[in-house]
Amino acid sequence: MRMRLKRKFKNTIYIASTLVFGWVITVSGISAMKHLNKLDAVEFRVEGETRFTLPADQADEVDLILKKYKLNYLSKSSIAPEAKILKVDFQQKIEIIPVKVDDEFTFNSIDDLTADLSRNEVEADWYTIVSGDNLWQIAMDRTDVTLTTIQDYNPLLDLNAIIYPGKEILLKPADPVYDVEVHLENIALEPVEFDTIRIKDESLLTSQRVILKEGIEGEKKVVYDITIVNGYPTEVLAIQETVLKQPVSAEVKVGTKRTVGRSGGNNYGVVSGRLSSNYGYRTHPISGRRIFHNGIDLAAPTGTAVYAYADGKVTSVSQDNTLGKYITIDHGGGLKTRYLHLSAYKVSVGDKVTAGQRIGSVGNTGYSTGSHLHFEVLKNGSYVSPWNYI
Ligand SMILES: [Zn+2]
Repeated sequence: MRMRLKRKFKNTIYIASTLVFGWVITVSGISAMKHLNKLDAVEFRVEGETRFTLPADQADEVDLILKKYKLNYLSKSSIAPEAKILKVDFQQKIEIIPVKVDDEFTFNSIDDLTADLSRNEVEADWYTIVSGDNLWQIAMDRTDVTLTTIQDYNPLLDLNAIIYPGKEILLKPADPVYDVEVHLENIALEPVEFDTIRIKDESLLTSQRVILKEGIEGEKKVVYDITIVNGYPTEVLAIQETVLKQPVSAEVKVGTKRTVGRSGGNNYGVVSGRLSSNYGYRTHPISGRRIFHNGIDLAAPTGTAVYAYADGKVTSVSQDNTLGKYITIDHGGGLKTRYLHLSAYKVSVGDKVTAGQRIGSVGNTGYSTGSHLHFEVLKNGSYVSPWNYI
């Protein structure tokens, strides 16, 4: 019993497996037949979505077109030849995937792809300059346009130069359907500003500066990390700075000594009056000769107060036929002032005076044709223009 049953069982297994294998072979045979009628193709996918399906033998051409499209943005961006290009790629995820399609399938053409690549989501915004335009106003009149973006989009435009009517400027570049991002590193040599060390000097006037040492700019190497999208920079980051040459600080002596400067109107500080003869060459009113006038004449009634120009020491209180009654004050630092044709003195030789202190009165003494103050400034013994001081 046991043996017979076993044999029967074996037969059943044999028949069953023959049927199953037969079926498997038949099904795979049909599927293999179908397979022979399929065509090789490539799908052009953007962000996982199929845009075009092309014959497989056009895959290399698609690849070349995409490469050219990307390289076009690289050359448009006027990138320095020595820059290190780190990446040139689409911002969208673009894939070319091999697939099988039925033999009745209608393929897209290469032209469909090139047409799509030239499409813009937003067209470029160009502006034509008209008479009376200025770039600042153009930027002011528009939101999201600034002088910086105008410079970015028009790299050859000089913002400080005159712009002529008819010139076209790009206010906003086109936004293409396919965005290309270029990532690069570039090195620039830039100056390092120098500091100015100011040394206070009590012997100099507040208006005076003496350069003790000229400053010298230094130099640094700056590594920039730059992102360019569709031909225009979107991010420029300085990621590393190396000083190649340290700057040299400038040293300047700055005066702290108070003066009586001109305060407007007829107040010339040293006297209130009317300018009747200027510093420089003139024809002398008495001799008629062309002579150098070494000071300024300020006409004022006899007795008008005359004030010390700055703090100092009275070094002469004297009188002669030419200068009349005059006073000299030494302000230190090689600076002296003289006050001529006075009618009266209020100080003596050796007196210390402060800026604005009354020292005498206007007069018409010496070689003079009317009541006035002749005011002179001497720097290291030479006449200088009083206008640089009052
Ligand atoms: Zn004079």
